[in-house]
Amino acid sequence: YGKLVGAAMGVTVLAAGASVWTAQAGSADDAPPKASRPAAPPAAVTPVSIIIAHDSEAGPRGVNLTIDDGPDPVWTPRVLDVLRKYGVKATFCMVGTQAQAHPDLVKRVVAEGHRLCNHSVSHDTAMDKAPEDYQKQQILDAERMITKASGGVRPVYYRAPGGAFTPYSRKLAASRGMRPLGWNVDTKDFERPGTAAIVATVERELPSGPTLLFHDAGGDRSQTVEALRRVLPRLKEQGRVFGYPVR
Ligand SMILES: [Zn+2]
Repeated sequence: YGKLVGAAMGVTVLAAGASVWTAQAGSADDAPPKASRPAAPPAAVTPVSIIIAHDSEAGPRGVNLTIDDGPDPVWTPRVLDVLRKYGVKATFCMVGTQAQAHPDLVKRVVAEGHRLCNHSVSHDTAMDKAPEDYQKQQILDAERMITKASGGVRPVYYRAPGGAFTPYSRKLAASRGMRPLGWNVDTKDFERPGTAAIVATVERELPSGPTLLFHDAGGDRSQTVEALRRVLPRLKEQGRVFGYPVR
């Protein structure tokens, strides 16, 4: 199998010219794919569970911070600064178009030790009602956009926008090494209820499960940043351990 693929690719590369070598060497090649360029074969990945993850790798005192809808040039750096200040690692569920627009931020997220999650190409919260071909495009194109923006680091979770999973989308994501990712506590930060309300929601609902949902895009997220500034040290004082969702 390997030999055949190698031979076939060799022929293709010769035919398509030097630009293909550049692209396959992983250099910063932002040119749109040319019609003559063969699609890169998907990288080999290890399939993961199709069951929607909620638990924490950090164990019974674990908390999973998940931050959705970015990256955003205003808010993602502020969130990252707070996480760095308290030494907390999080999982960033990125929208494909946002990742493509802000590759520097995707690279910073990775460089600071956080994990990447695929949050679809365009955040269509009705994608569970759409045909499977559309779901496939939303998931696989976002995987490519995020991986390219990060410089080759793959998203290891898939969170459907608005939780609009289907059995098909879970299976597809898992086959590409992206564990479907749920949440236990919706902080409702998206509705801007006030910093105190966001903090109160975390404290009230954390006993129901370790995976917290925040947002770093989609509008003014100053309440989110301030809530994290209050919540992170408090939870650490309570003996909580920040970690990643199980894979
Ligand atoms: Zn979202």
